[in-house]
Amino acid sequence: MQSNLTPTDLEAQLTTLAQQQGARRIGICSLEQDQALGYLDQWLERDFFGEMEWMRRGRDLRADLNQVHPNARRIVIAAFDYWPEGVDAWDIIASTDKAYISRYALGRDYHKTLRKRMKSIAQALLPDGAFRVFSDSAPVLEKHFAEQSGLGWIGKHTLILSRSQGSYCFLAGFLTDAELPTTTAIETPRCGSCTACIEVCPTQAIVAPYQLDARKCISYHTIEMDAPIPEPYRVAMGNRVFGCDDCQLVCPWNRYAELGDGQFTPRHGWDDVTLLELWALTEDEFLQRTEGMAIRRAGYVKFRSNLAIALGNAPYQPAHLQALQSEDSSDPRLKEHVAWAIDQQRKKCAR
Ligand code: SF4
Ligand code: SF4
Repeated sequence: MQSNLTPTDLEAQLTTLAQQQGARRIGICSLEQDQALGYLDQWLERDFFGEMEWMRRGRDLRADLNQVHPNARRIVIAAFDYWPEGVDAWDIIASTDKAYISRYALGRDYHKTLRKRMKSIAQALLPDGAFRVFSDSAPVLEKHFAEQSGLGWIGKHTLILSRSQGSYCFLAGFLTDAELPTTTAIETPRCGSCTACIEVCPTQAIVAPYQLDARKCISYHTIEMDAPIPEPYRVAMGNRVFGCDDCQLVCPWNRYAELGDGQFTPRHGWDDVTLLELWALTEDEFLQRTEGMAIRRAGYVKFRSNLAIALGNAPYQPAHLQALQSEDSSDPRLKEHVAWAIDQQRKKCAR
């Protein structure tokens, strides 16, 4: 399908639509992705995906986007700020009796919310056009296409970031068969000689600039992985119970990050909560307090098994030890984490 819009008209219309839907930046690119697929193949060959088998399974779909959306010609992609107002992230990480939850996960789950917003943009832009929206929900190399659309560059921590927006943003977009003019202003990468994200990573998961071994990453261990967290990573996890932001927190470009909209405001006090308070939640309470949030995707037992590690890492307190000793779950991951954490608390008590 050909588009009759001139590039100037399109840019103006897109900017307006993006603003209406709360996106700070939006762009359009072609489906060229040979180089990015080459990087993906290297990443897969090195088994850096760990248990995320869907990354390997989805490789060929990513390579042929016509299978994702018939006759796909363009990708329209937008970046939405999510940084939540509130408690300082480093203060929570330093408060070892509190739970650190990745800042992206404190508000409403972005997947559905952003797909809805992108659908509104697509319908307004292409009243008769066919499209498929995505937000971390289709086999699309989103970061690559965001870079190609001028939304920023892929930093050494492998996330998209920009001079004007930093990296605290969600990506969402749509594939379309409309031959829209592409946006041409590609942002020059500006990591330069900085290596702050590589140095700060608690588990050395950024094994080289632009190369993330997910098997070492705390976000992967606490969100994606179902098996017990390997012992060498448990102490380094500290109090990070769902995700990790350290590589972004140190990034100098995040001084330009802006607050996300109200949808991403922390809910139910999850931005400043003690480990014991979360440990005391029943499954029903957990479900109530995570309604509409990404944390719920982990499920009660997995979330609790992450909490167990953090309780093991917390300073010795009779209350921490008693809480762990009261757990009688037969779930293998939770059981193993609890046993490890009890051991940690006992060792600290004996010192
Ligand atoms: S999210 Fe945390 S563990 Fe993963 S690469 Fe970044 S700093 Fe390292
Ligand atoms: S911390 Fe430095 S190296 Fe890492 S993404 Fe930011 S600017 Fe690039």
